[in-house]
Amino acid sequence: MRQIYMDHSATTPVDPAVLEAMIPYFTDLYGNPSSLYSKGQAAKRAVEASRRKVASLIGADEREIYFTSGGTEADNQAIAAYMFANADRGRHLITSAVEHHAVLDTCRHLEKAGFELTVLPVDSHGLVEPETLKKAIKPGTTLVTIMHANNEIGTIQPIKELAAVAHGAGVAFHTDAVQTVGKVPVDVKELGVDMLSASSHKIYGPKGIGCLYIKKGSKIGKLLHGGPQENKMRAGTENVPGIVGFGQAAELAGQRMPVLSARLTALGRRLREGIVRDIPGTHLTGHPELRIPGSVSLCFEHVEGESILLPLDGYGIMASTGSACTTGFLEPSHVLLAIGVPHETVHGSLRLTLGKDNSDEDVDFTLKVLQEVIERLRAVSPLYNK
Ligand SMILES: *Cc1c(COP(=O)(O)O)cnc(C)c1O
Repeated sequence: MRQIYMDHSATTPVDPAVLEAMIPYFTDLYGNPSSLYSKGQAAKRAVEASRRKVASLIGADEREIYFTSGGTEADNQAIAAYMFANADRGRHLITSAVEHHAVLDTCRHLEKAGFELTVLPVDSHGLVEPETLKKAIKPGTTLVTIMHANNEIGTIQPIKELAAVAHGAGVAFHTDAVQTVGKVPVDVKELGVDMLSASSHKIYGPKGIGCLYIKKGSKIGKLLHGGPQENKMRAGTENVPGIVGFGQAAELAGQRMPVLSARLTALGRRLREGIVRDIPGTHLTGHPELRIPGSVSLCFEHVEGESILLPLDGYGIMASTGSACTTGFLEPSHVLLAIGVPHETVHGSLRLTLGKDNSDEDVDFTLKVLQEVIERLRAVSPLYNK
C-alpha cells in the first residue's frame, strides 16, 4: 500500500546519505575518541568535523556546541544547569504555556525544588508578546526559556525581540529550536540567544543525538558529571555514529533549505487551503504566516482527533493529533488550551507535517481521504447534526 508520511514534526526518516556516512563508525572506525591510537583519533576527527558542520548551520563557533542525547536532554540540562549555577543571583525563571514537555516539565521540577516559575500566556496564534515578558521579569529572574517554533501548531516566536527584552534586564535566554534548526534560517548571533537546543532526528538524522549551543562566557554548570568529554561539560563516551549522522544531516539541511523550505511552504499552504475549502467546520490553528514550512495544524468541529488517525492510517496516511486519550477520557493538549481553542473543536485536532519526500499527489490524495473520513465520522457522531 502507498505510504504517505505526514508526521515530520514527530520524527523524520534517516536520509540515505546520512546512513552511509554513519556506517563506517559502527564497523571499522569503532575507536573511542579519547584513545590515543589512530583508530581513536579517527573517531575524534569525525566528531570534531561534525561539530563544525552543526556550528556552521546555526552561526555558532564550534567550541560553543555540546553534543547531547537529543533535544530533551539539551532542554533539561540547559535549564537545570543554568539555574543551579546562578542560584546565588536569583531563583526565578520564566517560560511560556506552549513549551514542549521537555522544557515545561523541567521548569516544574525546578519549581518543586524551590525555584520560582512564571509561565507566560500566549495569544490565540500561540505568540508570546515581548511586552508580557517584560512585565514578568523581576529582581531575581535569571533565565527565560521560550521555544523558537511550536511542535503542535507550528507558530514561530519572535525570539530576537524576546531575547532582547531578557538581555535588557540582564537575564539569560534559552530557546528550544528543535523545530526550526535545519528547516528555516537559525543564527544564534542574529537571534541573540545564550543557549539553544537542537535535535538530529527532526532533520533526517538519527535519533538519540542533538546538541546544546552555549554562548561563550555563559555561566553554566556541567551538563553531566564524569569524564572530560565535550570540553569537560558533558561526560560520557561520545555517540560517534550519531554525531557523524547529525553532522551530515545538518550539512544537507543547510544545502537544501532555500529550495525545500519554499516547496514545503507552498505544499503546506495548498493542503491547508484545500482542507478549509472542502471540509466545513474546520479551524486552522497557529499563526497564518509565521509557521514552520509544511506544518498544517487544525481542529475539526465535532470529531475526535484520535478517531481520525485510525482511518487515515488505514489509507497509509500517517499524522498526529494534539488530543490524547491518556486517562480513559480525551484530554486536549496544553498548547491547544493555551491558545484558547473553543470546547467544541479542541478534541478534533489534527497535525499534518510535510517533509522532503511528500509530493503534490500526496497532498491531493490526503485531501480526498480526509474529506471522506471526516464526513463518515460526523455521520455517526451524536455530537454532530447538520
Ligand atoms: C522533538 C522535540 C523535542 C525533543 O527532542 P528529542 O531529540 O526527541 O529528545 C524537544 N522540543 C521540541 C520542540 C520538539 O519538537
